[in-house]
Amino acid sequence: MSEPVAPGPTTIECRQIADLLNDYLEGSLPKHTRELLEWHIEGCGPCVAFLNTYRGAVNAATKLKEVEIPRELKQRLLAVLRNPQAPRQPRG
Ligand SMILES: [Zn+2]
Repeated sequence: MSEPVAPGPTTIECRQIADLLNDYLEGSLPKHTRELLEWHIEGCGPCVAFLNTYRGAVNAATKLKEVEIPRELKQRLLAVLRNPQAPRQPRG
């Protein structure tokens, strides 16, 4: 079995997206890192879904103030990111 092309030092992985998202949404990421993150998300369905869900969760949390993202939800989102090779889901 041949391994997939090894990511270079300038690429980032899905789990790193999760770590960087908060800074990204706050606009505090360096331009270089932000571009890498955006570049990754453009080609990564799970991360798009994660970003959309995360944004929604943050908006809701902002409106409701001290409401936190439920741990279960967060873990579920992270599980999606940790399993990018999951079987395809039917589209439509
Ligand atoms: Zn990703």
